Amino acid sequence: MSIETITSLIRDVPDFPKPGIIFKDITPIFQDPAGLKASVDLFVDRWRDMRIDKVVGIESRGFLLGAPVAYQLGLGCPLVRKAGKLPWKTVSRSYDLEYGSATLEVHVDAVEPGDRVVILDDLLATGGTMVATGELLREIGAEVVEVACLIELGFLPGRAVLEAAGYSVYCPITF
Ligand code: AMP
Repeated sequence: MSIETITSLIRDVPDFPKPGIIFKDITPIFQDPAGLKASVDLFVDRWRDMRIDKVVGIESRGFLLGAPVAYQLGLGCPLVRKAGKLPWKTVSRSYDLEYGSATLEVHVDAVEPGDRVVILDDLLATGGTMVATGELLREIGAEVVEVACLIELGFLPGRAVLEAAGYSVYCPITF
C-alpha cells in the first residue's frame, strides 16, 4: 500500500475534541489489514539497519504503532504514559498545553544506559508531547536516535521545535 493510500484512510473530524480542532482520526488505518501492515512497515523498513535498541511508544496511539514495530525488529518497547499510570519508579516531565499542562512518565529502568532508542507517536502537532518524551528518555540514559510520528501537521511548529532541540525527525505523512 502506498503512502497516498494510507493517507486516504485518515479521516478528518472537525471540532473534536473541541471547536476549531480538526482531529486526524487514524482508526480507519488500523481497521484495514493492509493499512495497518503498511503503516508498521514504514517504520520497520526505516529503522531496520540503524542499530536501534528499543522502540519507545507514547500513550496511547503510539503504543499501537510502537509495539508491532518493535516486535518486527526483534526489540523491546518501553512505554511513556500519562501521569499516575505506571506502577514502578518513574521520572516525569510536565509540559504546557493550550489550556493547562500535562505530565508524562517513564519507568526509571525502561532502558539500559546508552541504549539507542527511537520514539514513536501517531501525530506531531506543537511538539510538546515529543519534546517531553525525548527529555524523559535522555534523563534515564538513552540516546534518542530519531523521533517519529505517522502524521505531521506542517502548519504547526513541531518539527522546528524538535530539530532545534537536536532531534532527527521522521514523519512520512504531512498535512
Ligand atoms: P503535540 O504535543 O501538540 O505535538 O500533540 C501531539 C499529541 O496530541 C499526539 O499524541 C496526538 O495524538 C495528539 N494530537 C494533537 N493534535 C491532534 C490532531 N489534530 N488530531 C489527532 N491527534 C492530535
